[in-house]
Amino acid sequence: MESDRSIIPSKVPLLVDLLAEMDVDQLPSPFDQHRVRIFHAICRSPGITRKDLIAYLEIRPGTVSTVVQQLTADRLVLEAPLSSHAARGRPEIPLYPNWMRWVAVSVFCVSMELHAVLINGADEILAESTREVPPTADNLEIEDSLTDLVNTVLSNVQRGSEVLAVSLSVAGIVNSATKEWIFSARWPRLRHLSLKRMQEILKVNIVVKRQLDVQLEYAMLRDRRLRDGNTLLFHWGYGIGGAFARNGSVVTSHTGVFCQIGHVSVYPESAKTCICGRTGCLEADAALWALAPEMARTHGPAPQNELELVEFLSTHPVSTTGYFRHALKSVAQALSHLLAILVPDRVLMYGPFLQNRDVAASLTAEVRNLSPPFVAESTVFETVPRAMSWNAPGSTLAYFRHAYESRLVSGNEKYRQSM
Ligand SMILES: [Zn+2]
Repeated sequence: MESDRSIIPSKVPLLVDLLAEMDVDQLPSPFDQHRVRIFHAICRSPGITRKDLIAYLEIRPGTVSTVVQQLTADRLVLEAPLSSHAARGRPEIPLYPNWMRWVAVSVFCVSMELHAVLINGADEILAESTREVPPTADNLEIEDSLTDLVNTVLSNVQRGSEVLAVSLSVAGIVNSATKEWIFSARWPRLRHLSLKRMQEILKVNIVVKRQLDVQLEYAMLRDRRLRDGNTLLFHWGYGIGGAFARNGSVVTSHTGVFCQIGHVSVYPESAKTCICGRTGCLEADAALWALAPEMARTHGPAPQNELELVEFLSTHPVSTTGYFRHALKSVAQALSHLLAILVPDRVLMYGPFLQNRDVAASLTAEVRNLSPPFVAESTVFETVPRAMSWNAPGSTLAYFRHAYESRLVSGNEKYRQSM
């Protein structure tokens, strides 16, 4: 065995469902069809034996034997350790998918922290690390923090695992094509940070995307019904922003700017300075960073980490205060504008404030109230409490999918295209 980790994840990984979407009948090589079917069966029933595969798939014993031998040689499949089957004698050896064949690193933002996670294709977190980055940080400091973070989690890669990519999903504006993190209101001194040097230092492919786009893409992979029609993901937390998809594809712009609703000027005469440097922004009125001093005044110091804030809000009735009700009205106004322009069939809402059912219901009612006729009447509003946990699998799943698919059908052009 090349790994001392458990070879059976606690649930069937989402990747297995995605691999099942492969159009097996269209593969020109019958042998590739067998490889895919046998690998799927091993993923669905970890511990299955060659004998079970022959009976279950109705494939000739010689073919099953050859394919399993190939899959183990390719390290896509593992045989159970000798000790667990020696007593029963050969040849009925349990077979398992090798989820440690490839690993990837996901980096994402939680409030003013950067998180890095080492993950495998079965959604298992293998290592993680966090760095708080001060708001005064410039390109060099942020690049150093990122490199240090990624190096820390990469030091946990086990022998026999290949690193597919380092995938950054970050707040603000990015240019994925040029691998640039262009802007983030949280770190106003960050400007056009190129990740190419970091890629050269780490010798791993680095990709960068908008965090909310990644979360929305993952939501659509998890739940097929979101791939029909228009879906808006709306985040109200440390920052405020959105992502939008039409029929399963995230909509973006060639400049990487989209749904920057948090930095729309809602109160041009306001004296409140936003962290982006302007005045009157929605965030300056309603984001967690702007509400934190008010919460400290009325309920004591509130954590600025979104995950920790959920706990704080469950014991401190912030939502009944005047400043919070004002913030909610501002958010509703901005969200109603997004609805009038994008006309989503559904809005997925997430963030620490929206975990309170009364707050989510008040926001929904207010948005409907502010929306023009025929807008938002049939829109479905849902809260998605765990969207923050979608960053790591969401930013890496495509790489795992491509790695397993292209290795399974290495002779097939459709699945060989590089990412
Ligand atoms: Zn702003």
